[in-house]
Amino acid sequence: MARYTGSVCKLCRRERQKLFLKGSRCFSDKCPLEEKKNKDEKRKNYPPGQHGQSRKSKVSEYGIQLREKQKIKRIYGVLETQFRNLFDKATRQKGITGTNLLQLLERRLDNVVYRLGFAPSRKAARQLVSHRHILVNGNIVDIPSYSLVPGDVIKVKDKSKQLDIVHNSLKRVKDNLYPWLTIDKATLSGTFVSIPERDEMQLNVNEQFVVELYSK
Ligand code: SF4
Repeated sequence: MARYTGSVCKLCRRERQKLFLKGSRCFSDKCPLEEKKNKDEKRKNYPPGQHGQSRKSKVSEYGIQLREKQKIKRIYGVLETQFRNLFDKATRQKGITGTNLLQLLERRLDNVVYRLGFAPSRKAARQLVSHRHILVNGNIVDIPSYSLVPGDVIKVKDKSKQLDIVHNSLKRVKDNLYPWLTIDKATLSGTFVSIPERDEMQLNVNEQFVVELYSK
C-alpha cells in the first residue's frame, strides 16, 4: 500500500506546527521547530522549499482549509484516497461530520497502539502492527487501519514483549492519559473502552475546515 516516505520533519515545517511524527526526537532539542537557543544557531523552523523563508503572501480561505486537511492527514499518516473514504463514511453517520471523521481516525489500530504508548509515533505503531507484534482480543491483527470497537483488548504479543521500542516508548507515557483507554503496563495490554469524544482527543486541529473544503 502507498505511503509517504519523504522527510517527516518537512511536513511539520510546512504546517508550521509540531505534528509529533518522529518519536523521541519530537520531544528533544533536535526538533527543528524548537525555539532557537541563540541568534547564531541554525534551525530550519520555516517552511521547506526555495521560498520557504521569504513567502509571506496572504493565505486564502481555500488555502487555510487545504492546510488543515493536510495537517490532519499527516498527523494520522493517511493518504488522500483513504482520507476521502473516511470522510465519506463520516458524512453517512449520525452526528457532527468533523467529529465523526476524527473518531474514525482515532479508532484505527495504529493510532491506539501509539496512544497506549507501545510505540513512539504513529509511524512506528503502524510498523509494529504490520510486523505482527500486536494482538486484538487474542488474535494477531496486522492491518494498521483496523477499526476498533469499544471493549477491544489490544496487547503486545508475548514473543514481542522484549522489544526495546515498546519499553522505551512506555517510559514517556503517563498512566491513563486518556479516559477512553485503559493501560496495564505490566502486561503490555490496554482496552479501547469507548469511542473518544472530541474534547478527549487532545488534538489541536480544526476539522470543520475539512468539512467546508470537501463540501465545495
Ligand atoms: Fe515534527 Fe518531530 Fe520533526 Fe519536530 S522532530 S519537526 S515534531 S517530526
